[in-house]
Amino acid sequence: MFKFKALFTAAVSSVLLIACSGESNDTAKNDATQPAVQQTFEWKLVTSWPKNFPGLGKGPETFAEMVNEMSGGRLTIKVHGAGEIVPGFEVFDAVSQGTVQMGHSGPYYWKGKAAAAQIFTGVPFGMNAQEMNGWLHYGGGLELWRELYQPFGLIPFAGGNTGTQMAGWFKKEINSVEDLKGLKMRIPGLGAEVLKKLGGVPVSLTGGELFTSLQTGAIDATEWVGPYNDLAFGLHKAAEYYYAFGWHETGTTLEFIANETAFNELPSDLQKIVEVAARAVNQDMLDEYTARNNAAMQKLLNEHGVQLRQLPDDVIAALRSANEEVLKEQAEKDAMFAKIYQEYKSFQENIASFHEITEAQLYRSRQQ
Ligand code: CA
Repeated sequence: MFKFKALFTAAVSSVLLIACSGESNDTAKNDATQPAVQQTFEWKLVTSWPKNFPGLGKGPETFAEMVNEMSGGRLTIKVHGAGEIVPGFEVFDAVSQGTVQMGHSGPYYWKGKAAAAQIFTGVPFGMNAQEMNGWLHYGGGLELWRELYQPFGLIPFAGGNTGTQMAGWFKKEINSVEDLKGLKMRIPGLGAEVLKKLGGVPVSLTGGELFTSLQTGAIDATEWVGPYNDLAFGLHKAAEYYYAFGWHETGTTLEFIANETAFNELPSDLQKIVEVAARAVNQDMLDEYTARNNAAMQKLLNEHGVQLRQLPDDVIAALRSANEEVLKEQAEKDAMFAKIYQEYKSFQENIASFHEITEAQLYRSRQQ
């Protein structure tokens, strides 16, 4: 993967040999040194989010700023929002085919290409952001993700986390499992399959299409992210009931994807800058959501009269049970899904028992 490092070392060695041999041809020396030391790269990065959208959309902008600055302008990255170069749902293909060098998106959008990609966004009733990051960076998750994307010529990096999302915006209250039957709801990934099991009709739409679809009644409900992003889209103007919690997206991980050929052309120091900036943005996005979600929630409740609801226990139980069926079916159909989900599940089970006696106890104790 990092073939350039060897080439770079070879180029530097040749220059040193020429210098030591008393070579006095300055032109020859400059030709040998300048490309390796001063070559600049101009990359395009496409996203699945509207340009300058808070949170999700800020991630790639922050990433580009970091890379531009840390590389001293040797690698400049220009960010293009959904629809500028390619539509939001074509980010994966655009980077895979080398139309652009990088993308920022959500792995679950690529379930038609690799079903197991959904696991890297998260699994319903699965790990939270902290657990997901532990699995990806210290539990072998990222290696599996790279293995999954390798056939597409893509290198994935964790690219931000929204924390636990909200269940979404509904035009009518959900009082029983019956109320999910025939419900046309925008919901992506594995959550969509779960809703379908209970008679719902999942719809696939990018963020920019949500408000109008909900307002016109083309859909009955939508999930998006959480209060900070949902307020920005004005979803409260299109539906009255806001349901907690995001059973379907419990620690949603975003992704940066780099075209493997383009990445391998970078010198190793620029590769490292890309990697470190992605890791920084991965944490930075979660920090921003953590700081801003509740303030946005208070605004929705106190200034916009939003009705906050929790899904009833029997609905949650039905969703959990349908989720087990969906995961089993996906694993039976797809060997990579089975392999990666097994690893995910095993990490979750182990960390859950520790977090039950620490994090969960802390949450309970703070309510007493
Ligand atoms: Ca979502």
